Amino acid sequence: MRTSLVTLGVVGFGALFSLAVWADKPESSRGTRSRSKPNAAAADAGAADVVRVKVFNRQGKLVGPVESPRLELTLSEWRRRLTAEQFAVLRSSGTEPAFCGNLLDNKKSGVYACAGCGLPLFASSSKFDSGTGWPSFMQPVAKENVGSVPDFSDGTPRLAIHCARCEGHLGHVFGDGPAPAGTRYCLNSAALTFTEQSNLTELADPAADDAMADAREVPAAGAAPVNDKVSTQSAIFAGGCFWCMELTFEQLKGVVEVENGYCGGSKNTANYEQVHEGMTRHAESIRVVFDPEQISYQQLLDVFFDAHDPTQRNRQGAEDVGRHYRSAIFYQGDEQRAAAEAKIRQLREQKVYRRSIVTQVEPLSAFYPAEVEHQDFARKHPLDPYIEEHAVPRAERVRTKHPGLLAEPAESDSASP
Ligand SMILES: [Zn+2]
Repeated sequence: MRTSLVTLGVVGFGALFSLAVWADKPESSRGTRSRSKPNAAAADAGAADVVRVKVFNRQGKLVGPVESPRLELTLSEWRRRLTAEQFAVLRSSGTEPAFCGNLLDNKKSGVYACAGCGLPLFASSSKFDSGTGWPSFMQPVAKENVGSVPDFSDGTPRLAIHCARCEGHLGHVFGDGPAPAGTRYCLNSAALTFTEQSNLTELADPAADDAMADAREVPAAGAAPVNDKVSTQSAIFAGGCFWCMELTFEQLKGVVEVENGYCGGSKNTANYEQVHEGMTRHAESIRVVFDPEQISYQQLLDVFFDAHDPTQRNRQGAEDVGRHYRSAIFYQGDEQRAAAEAKIRQLREQKVYRRSIVTQVEPLSAFYPAEVEHQDFARKHPLDPYIEEHAVPRAERVRTKHPGLLAEPAESDSASP
């Protein structure tokens, strides 16, 4: 059973528990692989992909609520990102000893953010000395940014609080705070990072850029071609790691070019580093330029679905985790959209997959080519262990399944006595 969380409003303690809703869902409804995550709610594939939170923009101003991708990482990834103390609190719901945290006596003016994902959580203006030995706050910097869930782990009913974006455990909230709200948010220093008021631009968040871009950008006209050659068309797919997808599609006949890039987010965040932080709206994507006289968009769709697992939400396998590894088709024009939707309908009707298809069909607004070192990656690094383990088998699977779509015939065809 999994638990879904609700965001906590600033209310009296008596009402706190009525706000925390437990909702049990059948484990098998989404069929995600079992993972040993301490915060099971984050692993619920039914949870929304995005959260609505307030973030800092490049001017150091708190804006929103804006949509930001939920940050989901594997435990080993969290271990790499966090110190042992941060991991113990954020990912294992630990509590640091009283009077030991480095932020307990911090009197500086500024903002306390999640040590796991950088989401702003509390402002120095609401910090007070509770005498408990843990940093204490009257209220979060934005109610959207801190969630809560009932916690019976020590025998007394309490409300545990967590970061709304990465589900990192922060501490608890109690009803013995100062008037008027009477709430005390009791934090672990290890769950927080502190940024001084004069440096708030350092907390600038990609979600603020994406929101601004949304407000500014007019969606691309339906049939606008990405390429300028009249005789070719282009298709844009996201199916996990773009190195793998590139190798798979490069081997097809009629495919003129495959380019790796980012799709779904804004220009400002279209770079490998930010996309891989997991907090932009981009997906690793490929742009396939093809000759429709040799291969059709429908055939490319067939290959797309055989080149990845469209039932895995926001991941491919155990290593590639995050919304940037989501399964998506970025269509250009009504014809591509209809073809993509028809293909998914057909796969569902034929019950090709035991689990439900989670591929998103999204209109293309812009495709941003990736950095040069990510182009032709598999060809340039054939002995890279990741390529050997993931990209080659994927490409091989498509070769086996679609021998008629290959630019070069399968090996067995060329063998002669
Ligand atoms: Zn967080």
